[in-house]
Amino acid sequence: MELKDKVAVVTGGSRGIGRAIVMRLNALGANVAFNYLSNTTAAKETVNGCSNPNARVISHRCDVSKADDVKEFFKLVLDEFGKIDIVVNNAGINRDNLLMRMKDEEWERVIDVNLTSAFLVTREAVKAMIRKRYGRLIYISSVVGIRGNVGQANYAASKGGIIAFAKSIAQEYAGRNITANTVAPGFIETDMTAKLPEEVRKRYLASIPLKRYGKGEDVANLVAFLASDEAGYITGQVIAVDGGLAI
Ligand code: NDP
Repeated sequence: MELKDKVAVVTGGSRGIGRAIVMRLNALGANVAFNYLSNTTAAKETVNGCSNPNARVISHRCDVSKADDVKEFFKLVLDEFGKIDIVVNNAGINRDNLLMRMKDEEWERVIDVNLTSAFLVTREAVKAMIRKRYGRLIYISSVVGIRGNVGQANYAASKGGIIAFAKSIAQEYAGRNITANTVAPGFIETDMTAKLPEEVRKRYLASIPLKRYGKGEDVANLVAFLASDEAGYITGQVIAVDGGLAI
């Protein structure tokens, strides 16, 4: 598997799963542009963690829920690299609460950052990919987007929405040689899951058949394959990386 001379865009690359994806794509030879919301120090750490001397990595601050930010980010990437082959929609947040207590802002922010971002990013990505008749669109959903979860109605709706969105895009742009696939991680050790109470973490662990939490690299390995030429006959799929959690 090789991504030499490919240009990849990754949203939310400053930490967690996004950082692992940036580093893996770079290690395989891709030039990578990633964005982040506010954590400039972490973004620099991601850039410094990429060691392939034959491929470049750039970062840019951009709120993926804002159309103008996304347009400006894609313009910057095209000015810098001239094309876009791979786009990984990874940036995401949770604002957990039981439905009866859920505030309007908790619903809206999660839908905006997790789902509206996929629309905004894909719209810009496809404009660039159509010209080259080549594209790999990859969406990071969640097992929660397949099964739902107590206290995560907003998050589950956003992640389920991504699956349906990606399947629609897969059909709409298959004729242009653009594939669209979704990765559904289970419990991955990142800042997002570190804030869960220990008892909840233990309950998850007990229900994971492979008996370990996932790592960002577990997700990045699948993303790298879906981004490669070898995955050219796979589109519209949802693939779980969850140690068997969703079985
Ligand atoms: P983290 O909280 O560790 O990292 C989130 C990343 O997204 C950061 O880079 C953050 O930037 C960025 N981000 C957040 N909001 C925005 C925004 N509005 N605009 C641009 N960038 C933004 O999350 P994870 O690595 O755990 O999760 C990554 C993805 O994987 C998410 O979509 C999540 O829903 C999904 N996922 C995670 C699972 C897990 O167990 N961890 C399980 C299933 C799915 P900054 O550093 O500046 O804040």
